[in-house]
Amino acid sequence: MKEIKLKINLKELENTPEQKQDFYFEEIIEELDNGISVKGTINAQLTEYGVQIQGEVDTKLNLICDRCLDFFEYNINVSFHEKFVKNGQNISQGQTEYELTDEDFAEDLQGREEINVTDLIYQNIIINVPGKKLCDINCVGSQALQDLNNKDETDPRLEIFKKLSDEIDNDKSN
Ligand SMILES: [Zn+2]
Repeated sequence: MKEIKLKINLKELENTPEQKQDFYFEEIIEELDNGISVKGTINAQLTEYGVQIQGEVDTKLNLICDRCLDFFEYNINVSFHEKFVKNGQNISQGQTEYELTDEDFAEDLQGREEINVTDLIYQNIIINVPGKKLCDINCVGSQALQDLNNKDETDPRLEIFKKLSDEIDNDKSN
């Protein structure tokens, strides 16, 4: 399979009439291991400090449910807005207009002329994968998990675990 990677070249961007470019993005990102394309629209705009790239993409991921341990399909939609600074020093020259705060995080390009958009999208998808993965909000879980939950509360083996975890909790609170 031919690997396609969308890159934005700053020189090309500078040479466009309005110094902006719109792209339709459709690529299989191998690292996501989902076998289908990520699709969406991307806009790159040259700014005083560098370039800003915004976009919205969606795809489906194959995640493993935390309860039943089965694969399930998860629709993910990500919108992002990223800023890249051409030369870090531009910001410190008292140009308050372009002052970038912590919330307004910008990556320093450090002389690079190209931005790998595929990487940018990949990273934005990864950080938006939910911490708790459930195939269904009402997923009852695997047979083993159900058995564990249905066990008589006084099962001595479970009591030992309960005691241990209570002790650990007490330790933490001290
Ligand atoms: Zn499940």
